[in-house]
Amino acid sequence: MIHEENEKIKKETKELEKKLKFRGKLSWDLLEEREREEVFRFAEGYKNFLDRAKAEREAVQEIVKAAKEAGFQEATQRSGGKKVFLVNKDKSVALAILGQAPLVEGVRIIVSHIDSPRIDLKQNPLYEEADLALLHTHYYGGIKKYQWVTIPLSLHGFVVKSDGSTLNIQMGENPDDPVFVINDLLPHLSGKTQDQKKLAEAIEGEKLTVLAGSLPFPDLEAKERIKLRVMELLHQKYGLVEEDFTSAELELVPAMKARDVGFDRSLVGSYGQDDRASAYTSFQAILSLEDPPRTSIAFFVDKEEIGSEGSTGAKSLFLESVIRTLIGRCSLTVSEALLKEILANSKALSADVQAALDPNYPEVHEKQNAGKVGYGVCLEKFTGARGKVASSDARAEYVGEIRRIFNAHNVAWQMTEIGKVDEGGGGTVAKYLAIYGMDIIDCGVPMLSMHSPFEITSKADIFEAYKAYRAFFSSP
Ligand code: MN
Ligand code: MN
Repeated sequence: MIHEENEKIKKETKELEKKLKFRGKLSWDLLEEREREEVFRFAEGYKNFLDRAKAEREAVQEIVKAAKEAGFQEATQRSGGKKVFLVNKDKSVALAILGQAPLVEGVRIIVSHIDSPRIDLKQNPLYEEADLALLHTHYYGGIKKYQWVTIPLSLHGFVVKSDGSTLNIQMGENPDDPVFVINDLLPHLSGKTQDQKKLAEAIEGEKLTVLAGSLPFPDLEAKERIKLRVMELLHQKYGLVEEDFTSAELELVPAMKARDVGFDRSLVGSYGQDDRASAYTSFQAILSLEDPPRTSIAFFVDKEEIGSEGSTGAKSLFLESVIRTLIGRCSLTVSEALLKEILANSKALSADVQAALDPNYPEVHEKQNAGKVGYGVCLEKFTGARGKVASSDARAEYVGEIRRIFNAHNVAWQMTEIGKVDEGGGGTVAKYLAIYGMDIIDCGVPMLSMHSPFEITSKADIFEAYKAYRAFFSSP
């Protein structure tokens, strides 16, 4: 009798726990066998995109190419169909599908960024030292410099020559291409110069110079023979002269390809997943839409990693031009008042990756509010540091709305913050769109080793991000 009574109490407690407690669910557990296959298949397309779109211009090209194949047309106010795209200076792009509701009621925007931390060449980079050709660099975005030495790097870039003609350069991605490298000191000699210093100071920015050659120009009388030989090769192959570097954008990124990680192949390792994880999934989400309830925009911006400045970053007013074009597409009269009204009535997700709990460094997180690999897409109300400073802090009504959408569409999601209080912080583009009065919240996949040359995500989380973005676009 006592035994039965105990069993009953246990059962009731379990039911009460299930009803009342908030627990994240491992997304893998929510998947049926067929869905699991879909998760792995989706990851193949994702890895392919990562390999083909390592630089922001390449990402724009890939997105535009696939959008055209899916029936999107380049838009002006007078031309284009229901599915359109607009490109901003080859570095930022917006895809839009006109929805059922009138434009004035607002649009749904998912914004992600297509720039990633990297090593940029300086504008006058090439020099010779110790009979080696070297390139001066200036890193782009927040990198831990020690992670970028002694790994194969590929060169991606764009040059405007003196006559105005342009040239795309990509070297180091094909297996038989040469690669580049930043050298590091051997441990036998690094004791005083590096090992005793703080990690952040052990490798100085000016020492991130890239090895670029060692063959001498044959004429023994020539000065800087190694440099001259490199210039001769660049001239033969691309028609370049040294002054052309001044109007070039040459970026060094890890030469590695995206790979499956782990015995079970459940994870993706690759450069540039911050933030192409969000770019690819929101891009696939908009491609999957037919006749959405509201006009949907997948917006891909540049320059996030250096503060969203510049004419192609989120602080530029390109989004306003996109909306103006859409107003024209709907045969409405373009006015500032209408533009502002549409933007204020809009809703957005700032699709960016979140720091995942690293089992080696649990001390930087407060576990209950940390993003966890495999638990689905991370919602993040605020980023910032020292008391949420500089974050947009989405209001409860909007968080509630997004939560209802995700739950209704069976999306695995988790509520997260970046690190424990006063540990550090970050920033995203959310606040630059919030200016218009639109609701916006950060929403992206959890990631290990963020900003490193080989960032890690879970294939399940990538798929959940796709589901989450599709659900957002599909909601009235
Ligand atoms: Mn990011
Ligand atoms: Mn970042």
